[in-house]
Amino acid sequence: AKHKGRNNFQCYDHELTLHVTERLSLGAALRYACANHELQLYYQPKVQLKDGRVVGVEALLRWWHPVLGMLTPDRFISIAEETGLIVEIGEWVLKTACQAAVDFNRDVAASFKVAVNLSCRQFLQNDLAATIEAILKTTGCRGEWLECEITESLMIEDNPQVANTLEALRALGITIAIDDFGTGYSALNYLSRFPIDVLKIDRLFINHIDTDPCKVGLVKVFIALGTNLEMQIVAEGVETVSESASLQKLGCGLAQGYLFGKPQPFDVLMTTLSL
Ligand code: C2E
Ligand code: CA
Ligand code: CA
Ligand code: CA
Repeated sequence: AKHKGRNNFQCYDHELTLHVTERLSLGAALRYACANHELQLYYQPKVQLKDGRVVGVEALLRWWHPVLGMLTPDRFISIAEETGLIVEIGEWVLKTACQAAVDFNRDVAASFKVAVNLSCRQFLQNDLAATIEAILKTTGCRGEWLECEITESLMIEDNPQVANTLEALRALGITIAIDDFGTGYSALNYLSRFPIDVLKIDRLFINHIDTDPCKVGLVKVFIALGTNLEMQIVAEGVETVSESASLQKLGCGLAQGYLFGKPQPFDVLMTTLSL
């Protein structure tokens, strides 16, 4: 992790573990991935625990590499961030997700939300909110149908641009979710300083919550914290009926995970959901 002083904030990369040559060749290929239509969004359902209703999806990026086949984001997002390609890729993601949101709201359910993951690198441009506003306009997507997922690392540096962008997104009706909650930084003061609507509890705390009293204790505190701040709570990575039951007992409202559905291509999910 690097710290470069007040107004000079930097993204933190956790994934410098890939082999250098793989990074170089993937970086070169990634440059063409957008134009060559090699990127695809998969969608994972987000359900309401009390009745199992699907209230939205999270868009997750996949790259169909011409030689290596399908790659998940761990293989290429950090490369995209370092090279700056994430800005172009991120715009493609937003546009595609907004188009999907229009279809989901027409064919599945009203107020159906599509969540996208935003890299902190995307917040370094000063026109992110304007870019998103333009995308909403061209796709016909309403702000209320879009949720932006960001991580704690974006908020620990006291950058006014981040707060301004988040406020501007909020003004468009877009909701803001904190992703991987609990894994980042112990300072929690950002929770009251930034406009946050949703806490997504990392799957680290959810996995085996049905048998681990220590995890129950932590998740209880996270739920109380978020609820007191009038945030929605989403449990990530729910894999078993028993985990789901534990979460419901603790008062967790929403959940995602393989139990309710893996990430799937748009057409596949649309077919299941509109039945
Ligand atoms: P994330 O935002 O925390 O997304 C959740 C990850 O957990 C996804 O991995 C999802 O497939 C996986 N997952 C969902 N349910 C379960 C479960 O029940 N069990 C287990 N073991 N895993 C589950 P995925 O799709 O490989 O994405 C990895 C990360 O890549 C994401 O983590 C997100 O941080 C990043 N990412 C994905 N799409 C984008 C994107 O469009 N832009 C940016 N900047 N980052 C993205
Ligand atoms: Ca996410
Ligand atoms: Ca997450
Ligand atoms: Ca994650």
